[in-house]
Amino acid sequence: MLDLSKALREKLNSAFTLFSAEVVAHQVASDLTEKLLLKMPGGDTVECVLMREPDRRTICISTQVGCAMGCVFCASGMLGLKRNLQREEILEQILRLDRLLDADERLTNIVVMGIGEPLQNLPVLLPVLDEVTDPKGLGLSPRRITISTVGLPAKIRELAAVGKPYNLAVSLHAPTDELRDELVPVNDKIGVYAILEATDEYFETSGRRVTFEYVLLGGLNDQPEHAHQLATLLKSRNAHVNLIPMNRVETLDFDEPSASRTAEFVSILEERGVAATVRKRKGADIDAACGQLRLKDAAIDGPTLDVV
Ligand code: SAH
Repeated sequence: MLDLSKALREKLNSAFTLFSAEVVAHQVASDLTEKLLLKMPGGDTVECVLMREPDRRTICISTQVGCAMGCVFCASGMLGLKRNLQREEILEQILRLDRLLDADERLTNIVVMGIGEPLQNLPVLLPVLDEVTDPKGLGLSPRRITISTVGLPAKIRELAAVGKPYNLAVSLHAPTDELRDELVPVNDKIGVYAILEATDEYFETSGRRVTFEYVLLGGLNDQPEHAHQLATLLKSRNAHVNLIPMNRVETLDFDEPSASRTAEFVSILEERGVAATVRKRKGADIDAACGQLRLKDAAIDGPTLDVV
C-alpha cells in the first residue's frame, strides 16, 4: 500500500497481524503440489495442501486438530482429537495457500478433506465457506467446494438444510457393516444404511450427485465381491465412486492395492452402471497424504523436515 506514508505503514504493521500461525514446514513436490504445516500460537499444528492440475488449482484444508473418528488406516486420527479449529485458523490455511499461486494462477476448487471431521465443526466451517463464496470474499462458487465426511447422518441433513450446492463426499470404504465396522470404527453406531438414507436426502435437497470415497486396502476391501456389493448398494442411486489407493502410512500395516485389482474393481462398478474414478496421486514424493506431516512433527517434536 504505497499510497500510505511509510510511518503509517510501519504503525499498521506493528499494531496488526494478518496471520497468527507460523509456517513450520513448506514442502514442494515434483508435480508442484505444495504442503504447509502451520503451527498455531498454542503450539497445535495443522496441515493444508495446494494441488495443481492443468485446468484447476485445488486446495485441501483441515477443520480440526487431530480427529476422533479413528479410521484404522488414517494418520490423522492416530493422536486422537485435540480440538476444533477456529474460523481464523481455517481462513488462514485458505489465504496462505492462495498466496502460493503465481500471478497467472487462480484458486478454482476447495476440498475440505484435510485433518478432522468437517461435519463435527459445522458451526465454524459454514461461516468460513460463506466468506469464501461471498463475491466480496473469494467469490468461489459453492459448486466448487467439496466437503468430505466419515458419514454422520444427522449432520448430513443439517448441511442439506443450509441449502447451498456444496458437493458432499462420503467416506464409505466398505459395502457391508461387518467390514465397515472394522475399518471405520464409528460405523458401529451409524451403519451403512443410515448413511445412504441421509445421502439420498442430500441429493434430493441439493441436486448434487454424492461422491462415495472408497480407500482400497490391498487384500482387505479390494476384492471383486466387494465391488459387486458396492455396485448393488449404489446402482440405483445417482452416485459417483472415488477409489483411493491406500497411501502408505509408515507405522500402519496396510498395503496398497495392486494395479490389476484396482482396474478390476473399477470395471465391475462400471459394468454394473456405477460411475467410478481412481483418485490421482498428488505429491507422492512429499508427505502430502492426510496427517502424515503433523504426525512426523509430533514424533520428532520439531521440524527437521526438508523445508523448501
Ligand atoms: N473426515 C473426513 C476427511 C478425511 S480425509 C472423511 O472421513 O471423509 C479424506 C479421505 O482420505 C477420506 O476418505 C479418508 O478416509 C481418506 N484417507 C485417510 N487416510 C488415508 C490413507 N492412508 N490412504 C488413502 N486414503 C486415506
